[in-house]
Amino acid sequence: MSKLGLYVHIPFCRQKCLYCDFSSYSGVEHLFTAYTTALCQQIADQGGKLYKPLVDTVYIGGGTPSVLPVPLLEQIVASLEDNFTIESGAEISMEANPGTVTRQQLAALKAAGINRLSFGVQSFNDDLLTGLGRIHQTADSLAVVEYAQAVGFNNISIDLMYGLPGQTVAGFFRELEQAAALQTTHISVYGLKLEEGTPLATAAEQGLLALPDEAAEEAMYSAMSEFLPSQGLARYEISNFARPGFECRHNLKYWHYQPYLGLGAAAHSFLNRQRTGTVTGIKEYISRVTTGMSPVVMEETLAQDESMAEYIFLALRTTEGMRLNHFTRYFGVDFFDLFGNVFARLQRQGLLEADDERIWLTDTGMKFGNIVFRSFLPD
Ligand code: SF4
Repeated sequence: MSKLGLYVHIPFCRQKCLYCDFSSYSGVEHLFTAYTTALCQQIADQGGKLYKPLVDTVYIGGGTPSVLPVPLLEQIVASLEDNFTIESGAEISMEANPGTVTRQQLAALKAAGINRLSFGVQSFNDDLLTGLGRIHQTADSLAVVEYAQAVGFNNISIDLMYGLPGQTVAGFFRELEQAAALQTTHISVYGLKLEEGTPLATAAEQGLLALPDEAAEEAMYSAMSEFLPSQGLARYEISNFARPGFECRHNLKYWHYQPYLGLGAAAHSFLNRQRTGTVTGIKEYISRVTTGMSPVVMEETLAQDESMAEYIFLALRTTEGMRLNHFTRYFGVDFFDLFGNVFARLQRQGLLEADDERIWLTDTGMKFGNIVFRSFLPD
């Protein structure tokens, strides 16, 4: 079995961003300690149940993990180390919001064993950040990256967004230049999605947002696709760019269909070809774990055809694409026997390519990934 990845969900944020539909809550600081206690209990339960399995990646995400006081984060990391066999050299990532960490806190997190940071920078334009409801400004982002580098983190990622209200192509290009100048090892760039029910989506429905048009969004996409690799940050997934050797090993597990265990509220797992998810409410999570009830409320075993579509979809997100022998090993059937016709059509459309070992998305295919992914779904 592949080594396990652990995802730890911290469902707290200082303030809810206007576009966010993630499972995160603000104004519940009084639950920090009880949540951490329950989380450590679940970590101990799961570590024991799985006989302290070998782990090579840990990802502490959210929410905003960095809103938790450092002693609680230290408690979580110590609990993971006590209950799982964390390989030496494991990647241990934590998400942090630039407005929530000081240099001293970063030094303490490094000492606690965190060796990769992912900062939710999102933009280097203060007006755009305000429009998103972010709590930080550009100066905070510049400062935290500098602090993190100064205290010895050598694996730092920043997230950026494009397609924002008020964002221009020229402005986004300047943001890419600022991002590259920080010399981080990894950059993720996501297009804004207007999720139903969020304040930003409502404002868009009411015609209150100056969103970039389709041509501008395409120009932004092209700008990042060309500029970041020219700065030594090679694309390795649709939205992710890294210097050689700094690809996020944890996220690669998702795209490579490898097992991971989710811990905390609203956390998903993929183990033994089964997907499970825990309860989203913080109080319910605490109550379930501390009374010996399972926090798992969703279990799903995909049918073989759905599982194949998902496997292909995830693998094709990476620039390496899908290894044909891995597909055969996983499903016991040949990819071309099942999908030869679909592949031929997508290849004629210039969206997919293949050699003897793998299939992958062309540059056009990356841009129109959804068309490709839909083609592999069962009828
Ligand atoms: S910091 Fe992240 S998780 Fe928290 S509200 Fe903003 S987008 Fe959502």
